[in-house]
Amino acid sequence: PQSTPDSSPSGAAVKAADRAHVFHSWSAQDLIDPLAVAGAEGSYFWDYDGRRYLDFTSGLVFTNIGYQHPKVVAAIQEQAGRMTTFAPAFAIEARSEAARLIAERTPGDLDKIFFTNGGADAVEHALRMARLHTGRPKVLSAYRSYHGGTQQAVNVTGDPRRWASDTGTAGVVRFWAPFLYRSRFHAETEEQECARALEHLETTIAFEGPATIAAIVLETIPGTAGIMVPPPGYLAGVREICDRHGIVFVLDEVMAGFGRTGTWFAAGLFGVVPDLMTFAKGVNSGYVPLGGVAISPAIAETFAKRPYPGGLTYSGHPLACAAAVATIGVMAEEGVVEHAARLGSDVLGPALRELAARHPSVGEVRGTGMFWALELVRDQQTREPLVPYNATGEANAPMAAFAAAAKRHGLWPFVNMNRTHVVPPCNVSEAELKEGLAALDAALSVADTYTG
Ligand code: PLP
Repeated sequence: PQSTPDSSPSGAAVKAADRAHVFHSWSAQDLIDPLAVAGAEGSYFWDYDGRRYLDFTSGLVFTNIGYQHPKVVAAIQEQAGRMTTFAPAFAIEARSEAARLIAERTPGDLDKIFFTNGGADAVEHALRMARLHTGRPKVLSAYRSYHGGTQQAVNVTGDPRRWASDTGTAGVVRFWAPFLYRSRFHAETEEQECARALEHLETTIAFEGPATIAAIVLETIPGTAGIMVPPPGYLAGVREICDRHGIVFVLDEVMAGFGRTGTWFAAGLFGVVPDLMTFAKGVNSGYVPLGGVAISPAIAETFAKRPYPGGLTYSGHPLACAAAVATIGVMAEEGVVEHAARLGSDVLGPALRELAARHPSVGEVRGTGMFWALELVRDQQTREPLVPYNATGEANAPMAAFAAAAKRHGLWPFVNMNRTHVVPPCNVSEAELKEGLAALDAALSVADTYTG
């Protein structure tokens, strides 16, 4: 029988309907047990039993100003009262204003904004623009990367999540980007790693044929794959290689952008300006789905007299854009970017290094701003990961035990393979950080029992 909406369901009813009807992403449907969440505010969320968690995941690294910021909620309500929706082919205030504010903050001369509904479709469109602009077919992307779950975005992704859906699309070639802790190049210093990674990229290009390559796509700081801050000079080196061969340089800032690294965009940390830059998530703290591509004048010019063949019904949706305008306003007025930089360098970074010094399960700490990863290992000398690559079930027990311990201490941790990422909202308070670090300390003691 058909029923009408339940106006105030119990937690049990929410959970029951979820288990009966919601098909969850990236999951074996019968092996998951999603928490029924009753509410969220700032850096916390809570369940229907009133159990509260400090969110060190920022959702999926998107609530850069925390949950339910009153100014952004009010802006969405105000926009809904005025103009809830409108088709993309018109000039409307929220969209124009969001584009203007974003373009002002993007690096260099990236001045035009193509809006999408999220990160994956931003990557799809960036690669389409690059192929049309150059007339070339191939894209080079890095192993240990994540670019989204749609077809082209997953094809350029360099982690196990592409395995099931990767069609081995002709035209995608992967290479190794620098990562000293697990160096593919037998490097011992960041300088060596950088030089050898650039040489490897040059060789890959030479053997693929430079004139067949439309784009190189990289996350400025690879996020989901492990928050691997590239060595100084690497991204500038890729920029130079792209310029030399007429290749479009695409930086994916879907996760690293909008304050996460203590700058508006991580590209700024390295002084590089890509030709195309994708964004999503933090652009409006994920309150309404929004993503986009920031476009260089040269690429915009390609489509000045010739139509760009692509678009989305909800491109630059007024509610999403109003949320972006308000979020950028909050970040600017409340100094969120500077706060993330300061807290990252003065509090979070040193505290994580101090934990690493005491816990045998921590192999490496790396990151910047509110963007940190702890690599958990069985043995600090051999660097054997605490769980095998892509482990599930019993094989993943040490990471599951670590996560369960964190939750018992009121911390919701981000866990991926043998890593935990510490990615709280960029406006997290120092007191909240310390509370989360104490819980992390306790959870690492559980991870320690699996070492040696
Ligand atoms: N690119 C990067 C760097 C990401 O981290 C993500 C998501 O985590 C995506 C693209 C895909 O974004 P979305 O899930 O909004 O499609």
